[in-house]
Amino acid sequence: MRVLWLQSGGCGGCTQSLLCSEPRALFDELRDAGIRFVWHPALAHESDSEALQVLQSCADGSIAFDVLCVEGAMLRGPNGTGKFHLMAGSGAPMTEWVQRLALRARWVFAIGSCSAFGGLSASTPGNPLQATGLQYETSDFGGLLGEEFVSQGGLPVVNIAGCPVHPGWVVDTLEKLALEGLQRSDLDELGRPLLYADQLVHHGCPRNEYYEFKASAKKHSDQGCLMENLGCKGTQAHADCNIRPWNGNGSCLRGGFACITCVEPGFEAPGHPFQETRKLAGIPIGLPADMPKAWFVALAALSKSATPKRVRANSMADHTVVRPAVRKSEK
Ligand code: SF4
Ligand code: SF4
Repeated sequence: MRVLWLQSGGCGGCTQSLLCSEPRALFDELRDAGIRFVWHPALAHESDSEALQVLQSCADGSIAFDVLCVEGAMLRGPNGTGKFHLMAGSGAPMTEWVQRLALRARWVFAIGSCSAFGGLSASTPGNPLQATGLQYETSDFGGLLGEEFVSQGGLPVVNIAGCPVHPGWVVDTLEKLALEGLQRSDLDELGRPLLYADQLVHHGCPRNEYYEFKASAKKHSDQGCLMENLGCKGTQAHADCNIRPWNGNGSCLRGGFACITCVEPGFEAPGHPFQETRKLAGIPIGLPADMPKAWFVALAALSKSATPKRVRANSMADHTVVRPAVRKSEK
């Protein structure tokens, strides 16, 4: 399976993240699944003119490829011309290149939240760059390619969202496509692969015991749950960050930072500081997915009244200050 990769309006962090793929080295893993890059701007050996020739040949059909991966938002400005981002040496806007190449690709993958939904590239007030995702503008269907776009392989754009994307989400999606095929039923309502988006970040969070008892951290070094005070939206973010660790054993939560839902459209403009929880009458506005507000309020009150001393004390400390009681196990 041949992959053509382009980078547009973004920081390149998704490629950097991909290069940290593990447990096997990225290229060994892809090679053994029969996947190779036709061209990648950060990895290719070609000179600029040779690279343009490869891209031209892909666009006119003389070099066949299977998957078009686009990293970074599509910059349509100024005034819809796309000239804020010309493909170097070609004189043509990147938006035009992507539109041409998407028609040749069997499948189109948006790599990262900028390419999927616009992401941080679209977050400047008024969006002067006219940045958008490939098939979504935040959560609205459309984007550069339009609502009706379906690639030759029969799928809309596959949105491997994340800021940056987890390397495993890209590798597993490419491998699933190469080895088993990818169907619409493998994607969620926003086109994200269910192989990572059928979980919530909350699942597997090491702070779950604190969440159960609503024992909350007051500052970032505390061990407690970050939802009540420090902006955590892990109960709403569709990703497996705490089940599929980053870089061996890390995650935002394990590092002491709240989940800011970087896999969701519009995460970049929450309307409040990222690491603060927005509340109304003392109740967080962003409630867990699937939970009615009245239940949450009742459960939170009950949980708080039943919080063990150990959990409360440890939630506001940066290490265990009260150990779990040692008792004879019941026969
Ligand atoms: S810190 Fe966030 S992800 Fe972890 S338990 Fe609390 S709400 Fe869930
Ligand atoms: S924990 Fe949340 S903010 Fe962090 S990478 Fe996962 S989805 Fe993004």
